[in-house]
Amino acid sequence: MSLPAVFVSHGAPSLPLTDSPAAAFLRGLGVTLGRPAAILCVSAHWDSERPALSLAERPETIYDFRGFPDALYRLTYPAPGAPELARRAAGLLAAAGEMLELDAGRGLDHGAWVPLLLMYPEADIPVVQLSVQSGRGAAPHLALGRALAPLRDEGVLILGSGGAVHNLRQFFGNPGATPDWALAFDDWLCRQVEAGAVEALVDYRAKAPHGRQAHPSEEHFLPLHVALGAGGENVTGRVLHRSFDRSLSMAAFAFG
Ligand code: ZN
Repeated sequence: MSLPAVFVSHGAPSLPLTDSPAAAFLRGLGVTLGRPAAILCVSAHWDSERPALSLAERPETIYDFRGFPDALYRLTYPAPGAPELARRAAGLLAAAGEMLELDAGRGLDHGAWVPLLLMYPEADIPVVQLSVQSGRGAAPHLALGRALAPLRDEGVLILGSGGAVHNLRQFFGNPGATPDWALAFDDWLCRQVEAGAVEALVDYRAKAPHGRQAHPSEEHFLPLHVALGAGGENVTGRVLHRSFDRSLSMAAFAFG
């Protein structure tokens, strides 16, 4: 059976220490999806010029954030790596014309381990990370996903981890309720996902209300394009979850 490709919003690194609706959703998502043979996680927090895949046998937990409670730095996610899956993914991407890098030293950043700790707390499913390339824009990420789609039939969960609305200046500058522009973008996004509006999602900066305000930089949105592409041609998506932390949307989607 083929697994859907999934996009989740990971929010602040401290998400596992909370009982927020998004944390509760992610705690249930692993049960809903079932247990994949392996996970290929596309994280917003690994941004490189060319696509990079992690090759480590025992990836370390990376604490790529500052100023959070000590308890967060005591959490670890000791899942094994999956170098064979990394090589298989590299082959698919190379066949699609990508110039790749394989990184034997790369651990799991919080874009990967925060949602995985909630989804699969046993940390016993092998994980490979794929980088985003924020300099390349959305269309190449859709193509990366399409190239990786066959992995879904091999028991691999393709998991994009970013943020459906992610503007940190607005987040820290406006600590009040969720602003209208964030709600408008999120509503638009959910409609396009459910319609399978691939062109609009790729061209969101021109087509969406407040596209640039929702994503002043693109790295947190591009994992969605990989998941969308991995859903296959003519795919419609499903909205799995919606909630907000101030202006940060915590929406999650499934494709395929
Ligand atoms: Zn993030």
